[in-house]
Amino acid sequence: MKKNLLIILLAGVFVTNAFSQSYETQFAKPLGQVLQEIGTRFNVKLKYNVDTAGLVVTYADFRIRPYSVEESLTNVLAIFDYKFVKQDDKTYKIKAYEYPRRTPEDGKKMLTYLNTLYSDSAQWNQRSACLKKEVREKLQIDPILAQRVHAKPILSKIRKHDGYTAQNFAMETLPGLYVCGTIYTPLAKGKHALILCPNGHWPEGRYNKDEQTRFGTLACMGAVCVSYDLFGWGESELQVTAIAHRTSVAEIVQLMNGLTILDYMIQRKDIDPGRVASNGGSGGGTQVVLLSVLDNRFTAACPTVSLASHFDGGCPCESAMPTTLSCGGTNNAELMATFAPKPLCVISDGGDWTASVPTLEFPYLKRIYGFFNATDKVTNVHLLNEKHDFGINKRAAVYNFFIHTFGLNKSKLDESKVTIEPIKDMLSFGDNGEKMPANAIRQYKDVEKYFNKKADSKINSDIDAEKRAEVWTDSLKLNDKAKEARVEAVIFKHIKAVRDWHNEHPYTTIPEGIDPITGNPLNKIQREVIANSAKPKSIHEALMNGLRKDLTEEQVEKILDKYTIGKVAFTMKGYESIVPNITAKEKEYILGQLKLARERAVDFKSMKDISAIFEIYKNNCEKYLNDNGRNWHQMYKDFVTKIIAEKAAKKKAAASTNSK
Ligand code: ZN
Repeated sequence: MKKNLLIILLAGVFVTNAFSQSYETQFAKPLGQVLQEIGTRFNVKLKYNVDTAGLVVTYADFRIRPYSVEESLTNVLAIFDYKFVKQDDKTYKIKAYEYPRRTPEDGKKMLTYLNTLYSDSAQWNQRSACLKKEVREKLQIDPILAQRVHAKPILSKIRKHDGYTAQNFAMETLPGLYVCGTIYTPLAKGKHALILCPNGHWPEGRYNKDEQTRFGTLACMGAVCVSYDLFGWGESELQVTAIAHRTSVAEIVQLMNGLTILDYMIQRKDIDPGRVASNGGSGGGTQVVLLSVLDNRFTAACPTVSLASHFDGGCPCESAMPTTLSCGGTNNAELMATFAPKPLCVISDGGDWTASVPTLEFPYLKRIYGFFNATDKVTNVHLLNEKHDFGINKRAAVYNFFIHTFGLNKSKLDESKVTIEPIKDMLSFGDNGEKMPANAIRQYKDVEKYFNKKADSKINSDIDAEKRAEVWTDSLKLNDKAKEARVEAVIFKHIKAVRDWHNEHPYTTIPEGIDPITGNPLNKIQREVIANSAKPKSIHEALMNGLRKDLTEEQVEKILDKYTIGKVAFTMKGYESIVPNITAKEKEYILGQLKLARERAVDFKSMKDISAIFEIYKNNCEKYLNDNGRNWHQMYKDFVTKIIAEKAAKKKAAASTNSK
């Protein structure tokens, strides 16, 4: 039997050597080896965002171009739908294909192509009409808009600040689904401009200091600003959890929220419907583009650190719906151009993907605006030395645009007047969601039903993992929100990594070998354990180091017990019952083994696998007992006999009590 195992192992060696040698084997080599060879040959460092295990490159060496590392990488990686991203002269990151992200060169080619499609306003108007129609269809938004309840929002008390007020709202959109936000209103009387401010993925979302500063300042200057949560962020997290944000539903819901808020706000008596804009940064900028395409009531737009011809937005809430496939293929620059000739300000910087705006997107937009003799209506503020944020200079560009476009009061421009409110003041549903309406949806599944989508099992599994991480962390009663969040994140990430590894490396990837101890063919669980043993060590280390950073050793053990449903204590109790007069030394050895089992078992997904791991260490314990003067087989037999006798005695006693 051992010979069989040896043959299997040796066969592996021979197969590897035989690779790359003949036409019949297609000159194949493992991807990991090919990349290593490329790294050595061209003296570059390769970083990995992808798994190369088990992947084979056919005609491997023929794909290498001795004069170009990049051509060599392209030829090799294209087979697996991987790509490389140059990080510096000596470093490349290997990543999976990303459909929303292309290169600025791709953006340039696309804009050049798009420019051939129209050369005057009539041709452009046709194209624009096509885009406006097909984006709606690609978003599948109209059936969702039709299901809205059109309820009056729940409004909080008004908080008075220097020059403006703040008021929270919770608006029911689909039955039971709410969008929460804050309305910033000028103290001055009269009709005001309205600026919708969809959020980007900034730290702390709409509660972020940069965000509050912008809304408060614009309000002082005479614009009503409405800021509202992303789906699965802020108070929406209470309804659908944070994970629901990474769904295509998020993209549709966020746009629905924007349009529903616009419906409500525009009929307010203090709003001037002739001055309605949207302004958002990063992911909020992507919403500005799509809102502008979806609704003609906007009269000005200001996408900030967002707009590019070669990037559609990397979050599912920006690009999960295939809007850029509209009309044979488009991009955010062309979609934004459908806004011509209305006032548009694009804010960009040199430190993110908007670095190309001055040379690519802005000239393109100007050409379209030129069809309407309105090149003065499109502007670009490019902050060459800045990075991806909504800092002071970007805000200054926003203020300036709205002073000129909406006639806001420049003399009231003073950010120091703004009150940064604590998060709790900005909530509609209370600190812990205790004020959520009775009809409020409390799980993502209940939102999904409004969408004509198959339930996404991975998302629901993520939500389940997040819940486990939360419940386990709560059980430690840490009384420290930041610490809880870190511990929860470590556990959540680990559960997901273990699950994904398990799902991507099924037991069938392990050959049907022979168990060298029993001589029987390996069973499914054994093969699963072997497959899962190859998991990168980093998954386990990230869990243990992450937990130990914030928890005492005792607390770490409690979390490991949660993973393994208390098997250590339970199994230990069993040994104490089975081994007569168990000694302290025996107990110490057994406990040590069970703890080893526990730490290994946390990296397995199913309870069957976890039990199989414990079996390995239980065998060690039983061997230890036998080697040290005990007879496990006999002790176990005696124990079973004793239990049966006790049961029989109990039954007899019960029978005699009943007969009295
Ligand atoms: Zn997002």
